[in-house]
Amino acid sequence: MRRDGILKLLGERFTDVSEEYMSSLTTWRTGGPAVVITAGTSDKLAGILDLTFEEGVPWFVLGQGSNVLAADSGCSELIIRLGGELSSHTWSSEGALWELSCGGGAHLPSMSGAACTRGAAGLEFAVGIPGTVGGAIFMNAGAYGSSVSRTVSSVKVLDRRGSVRIIPGEECGFDYRRSMFQDERLIIASAVMRLGSGDPEDLRSEARRILELRRERFPLEYPNAGSVFRKPADDIPPGRLIEGAGLKGRTVGGAMVSRKHANFIINTGSATSDDIRKLIDVVRKTVLDFSGIMLEEEIRYLGGRK
Ligand SMILES: Cc1cc2nc3c(=O)[nH]c(=O)nc-3n(C[C@H](O)[C@H](O)[C@H](O)COP(=O)(O)OP(=O)(O)OC[C@H]3O[C@@H](n4cnc5c(N)ncnc54)[C@H](O)[C@@H]3O)c2cc1C
Repeated sequence: MRRDGILKLLGERFTDVSEEYMSSLTTWRTGGPAVVITAGTSDKLAGILDLTFEEGVPWFVLGQGSNVLAADSGCSELIIRLGGELSSHTWSSEGALWELSCGGGAHLPSMSGAACTRGAAGLEFAVGIPGTVGGAIFMNAGAYGSSVSRTVSSVKVLDRRGSVRIIPGEECGFDYRRSMFQDERLIIASAVMRLGSGDPEDLRSEARRILELRRERFPLEYPNAGSVFRKPADDIPPGRLIEGAGLKGRTVGGAMVSRKHANFIINTGSATSDDIRKLIDVVRKTVLDFSGIMLEEEIRYLGGRK
């Protein structure tokens, strides 16, 4: 179905359907037009999924777009975002354990900050990861020796027909930057995270230390999507391979391999998604020729790889 067909079909049933540029919804600031709808409740999300299933409309659930390269030509998928109740959160505690129940659309750094302020320990590592809770669970986002998988107690998902399932954390198939959600068409509507307890001042100071480190190491002054490539093995950082292949500063159009951190590709101002994709191909090929290692992307493609 074409974009105007999706816009009309969804517009007849729901308000707040709009056409937007993916460049305004992704941290790389690239990508063409897409039809976007926001679900604020599980019921609305189920209604959207029921309609898309019946009418055969493909969809893509988008968090903060901090790990996504969206095609310049635009997207034939309906973009589903989570807001309202599905981005809110509540706290409860029992003894030394904290429970954070939050929507899949909740902002991960805000959850991390709120946890530190309360004295809930275990999310400090996430303070500088600019995604949503749903995106972080999908990616099993992590940093500084920890990852979201360590905190997830259970996840509430909706399947492609809008039916609800609760999946315990230990059944989420978590591994390095992997989860079962990468293989199954499920939307993470909410999650329960279990956190320990700590001194709020210590937790805040650890979060500040992490933010400081990230500011020093990462090219945060330019639009980027974090690490582009996955680690090929535990002890092989892709940045070192890319730097070793002499690629720091390499450009295609407005896209550049960061001179500050070689596993980041930055948008120097005028990059298109196509520039970034071509640069990714240059990096993969050069690293393969140089070291014999084929790098695999961590980032997700939207609207096709071309
Ligand atoms: C400056 C910067 C620093 C970063 N640092 C780190 C880091 O230290 N560690 C790290 O792991 N990552 C890092 N990232 C990458 C990124 O922030 C994480 O992968 C993050 O978890 C993605 O969340 P998101 O909401 O932006 O997801 P998106 O980028 O919007 O989507 C990513 C994938 O998740 C899926 N998804 C999103 N929401 C849901 C949902 N509710 N249900 C099901 N699927 C969903 C999408 O369909 C897509 O396939 C960084 C990115 C940037 C820009």
